[in-house]
Amino acid sequence: KTSISPLRKINSTINSYAIAKNKEIETLQKNAAFRREFIADISHELKTPIFAAQGYVHTLLDGAVDDVNVRDKFLKRAAKSLNALDHLVQDLLTLNQMESGVVKFNFEVFNMVRLLEEVMEDLEHKAEKRNITLKLNFNPEKNYLARGDRDKIYRVCQNLISNAIKYNHEGGEAEVSIKSSKNNLIIDIKDNGLGIPPEDIKRIFERFYRVDKSRSREMGGTGLGLAIVKHILEGHKSKISVSSTLGKGSMFSFSLIAEKHPDTQKK
Ligand code: ADP
Repeated sequence: KTSISPLRKINSTINSYAIAKNKEIETLQKNAAFRREFIADISHELKTPIFAAQGYVHTLLDGAVDDVNVRDKFLKRAAKSLNALDHLVQDLLTLNQMESGVVKFNFEVFNMVRLLEEVMEDLEHKAEKRNITLKLNFNPEKNYLARGDRDKIYRVCQNLISNAIKYNHEGGEAEVSIKSSKNNLIIDIKDNGLGIPPEDIKRIFERFYRVDKSRSREMGGTGLGLAIVKHILEGHKSKISVSSTLGKGSMFSFSLIAEKHPDTQKK
C-alpha cells in the first residue's frame, strides 16, 4: 500500500502555488514592459510634429515673418504639423479605447454599397489632388446588406481606401470591389501603387510601423490606421488579409456577415 506523505502533499501544493505566482509576475512584467515601450513610442511620435511646428514658429519670430512669402509658407507648414498632431492624438485615443475594451460595437444592418460610395465621395478630393482614379465594382442586380457597426466599418474603409491613394503613384488607380458569397460580403481594396516589401507585410498592422516613415508623415499618416482597422475587424470576428507585390501594388480584403432580409435595406 502506497500513500503520499502529508509533507510531500504540502510541498507539491507550495510548488504549484509558486509556479502560478511566477507566471503572474511574468505577465505583470510583460505588461509593464509593453506600457513603457508604448509610452516611448508615443513620446517619440508626438515629438516629431511638435518639433517641426516649433521650428517654423521660432524661425518666424527670429525675423522670417518680415518676408511675406516665407511667412505664409512657414505658417502653412506649422499648421500642417499641428494638424498631424491632432490626428495622432485622435488615433491614439481611439486605439487606446479599443485596446482597453471600453468601445461598444453597435451592430445594425446597412447597405455596404452606399457606405462605400460615401467613403469614396469623402476621399474624392484627396484622390483628385494626386490624380488617382477611384473605382467601385459591384453587381447592381444584387443586395449588399451587411451586419456590423456602420460607423466603425466606415472607418475601416476610409483608412484602407485612403492608404490606396496615399501609397500610390500620381495618376494611379484604387479599385474597390464587393462580392457576396453565401453568408458573407467580401470587400477588396486594390491599388496599383508602391506595394509592400514581403518582410514588412506582417508588421504593418503593428502600431507605428511604417514601411517608409517620411512618406507616411508627408501624406499625413499616423502609423496607427491599420492597427485600428485590425481591432475593428476583430470586433466583427473578421480578419484582414493582404497580398502585395513591391512596385506593382497591394490588395487588402476583409469580409462581413451578410444580411439576407431585404426589408431592412433602409440605411
Ligand atoms: P499610416 O498612417 O502610416 O498610413 P497605416 O497603419 O495605415 O499607417 O499603415 C502602416 C504602413 O503600411 C504605412 O505607413 C505604409 O508603409 C504601409 N501601407 C499601408 N497601406 C498600404 C498600401 N495600400 N500600399 C503600400 N503600403 C501600404
